[in-house]
Amino acid sequence: MTFDYDLFVIGGGSGGVRAARVAAATGARVALAEEYRMGGTCVIRGCVPKKLMVFASGYAEMFDDARAYGWDVQEGDFHWPRFRDRLHKELDRLEGIYRRLLEGSDVQIFDARARLKDPHTVVLSTGEELTAKHILVATGGRPVVPEMPGAELGITSNEIFLLDAMPKSILIVGGGYIASEFAGILNGLGVDVTQFYRGAQILRGFDDEARGLVAEGMRAKGVDLHLGTNIIEMRAATDADLRGENMAAPVEEGQPVGVAKGAQTDGIWVKATNGTTRIYDQVLFATGRTPNTEDLGLDAAGVKVGRRGEIIVDEYSQTNVPSVYAIGDVTNRVQLTPVAIREAMAFVETVFKGNPTPVDHDLIPSAVFTQPELGTIGLTEEQARDLEPIEVYCTSFKPMNHAFAGREDRVLMKLVVSRESRKVLGCHIVADHAGEMIQLAGIAVKMGATKEEFDRTVAVHPTMAEELVTMKEPVRTA
Ligand code: NDP
Repeated sequence: MTFDYDLFVIGGGSGGVRAARVAAATGARVALAEEYRMGGTCVIRGCVPKKLMVFASGYAEMFDDARAYGWDVQEGDFHWPRFRDRLHKELDRLEGIYRRLLEGSDVQIFDARARLKDPHTVVLSTGEELTAKHILVATGGRPVVPEMPGAELGITSNEIFLLDAMPKSILIVGGGYIASEFAGILNGLGVDVTQFYRGAQILRGFDDEARGLVAEGMRAKGVDLHLGTNIIEMRAATDADLRGENMAAPVEEGQPVGVAKGAQTDGIWVKATNGTTRIYDQVLFATGRTPNTEDLGLDAAGVKVGRRGEIIVDEYSQTNVPSVYAIGDVTNRVQLTPVAIREAMAFVETVFKGNPTPVDHDLIPSAVFTQPELGTIGLTEEQARDLEPIEVYCTSFKPMNHAFAGREDRVLMKLVVSRESRKVLGCHIVADHAGEMIQLAGIAVKMGATKEEFDRTVAVHPTMAEELVTMKEPVRTA
């Protein structure tokens, strides 16, 4: 049977674009369909704009630091529209690069939605039908909003980059990556931020001490974090709400009617499980993401989907239908851009280079761009001690630059070490640039370095990261 293409990729995000380009470089005839903007979540409404907002928000503290370091600076206001317009110009530029890379690789681009008709056929929203020897689904995921009265009044991370104006106050719901990162970003940009997390501590799944320090740091910087708290009900604020009626007694002193500082008249009235009622300008739901598998024709092609809507794949990213593969967030394995890119490379290696390559999901370093920032690789202390006897090396201190500037922020450096093999099983850093540090420490951990090998490396002085090679005694064993 002859096909129109050797590979048809559905989705132009980090994973899909990489797979298309690298497959085309092998001489394969490749097409890619994207219904929205080239670049996907990471480039258009995720990692990239988020990181630029992290940079923008960091300036607030830098003004104070600069004064402490002898500079004569005046703090000005943050102009959201000025930043947002520049941000979108940058995203347009990046999208253009992605598109040109595909075109330069001779990948045929379809600016259309695609759905599967059968294991070798896709139908585009233009009505066109195309066949391919292999189909790769890389459609990513999207934010989910919990079902509750008034939830439609809230926004998600998709909308945050498009706002006409910065809210004066915001309630962020969730305690994961996105909620905690945006709490810091918006707080830094001068928004009055309240965060509700339903559990006992934010960033579930990360090392407990690291989570604790991040939460403490966020609070110290001004985020009003409420743990064990959720929304019961929300609705558009009425005039009566704004007069202070319909308000339960607020928890904090000094806010007699429970109106969040600076709330505007078109605010959102929120009733919480902690008994408070408040009016916020915005409510941001960062309550997880779900794979984009709806209306993709997976049933028609016979592709199996799991309980959370994720496409079920094997270690080669192959579905139960041999001609259909899936990579990235749509498979709900590890929702990280570099992982989707690895999966894309392994897919091309397996299918187009005849070299079956499973994806290695073990020991993935990652960073949470909270303020303070968290970098992590490997096992948390809690995970490791359930598996084997361990030693914990840990230090927390005020870094030189913050101490000089009179800031209270502390840093955490932590190694979890196997007592038997001496291998560093986990490394957890809470500090400025923790993401940069963990990328490098991650190489050693991935190579299976022992604590003694860390220690043999001479310290780089004076740095924060030198503590990773100078911790002599374990703080505890377990
Ligand atoms: P997460 O799964 O990390 O967090 C979702 C949060 O919402 C959790 O705290 C969860 O609570 C809470 N939640 C879920 N349902 C409800 C509900 N009904 N009511 C109240 N709270 C609820 O998802 P995110 O959306 O933050 O991020 C998605 C993924 O994107 C991450 O897992 C990560 O892989 C990726 N990402 C990575 C980044 C990075 O690398 N820096 C940055 C941003 C995203 P509970 O813990 O109790 O389940």
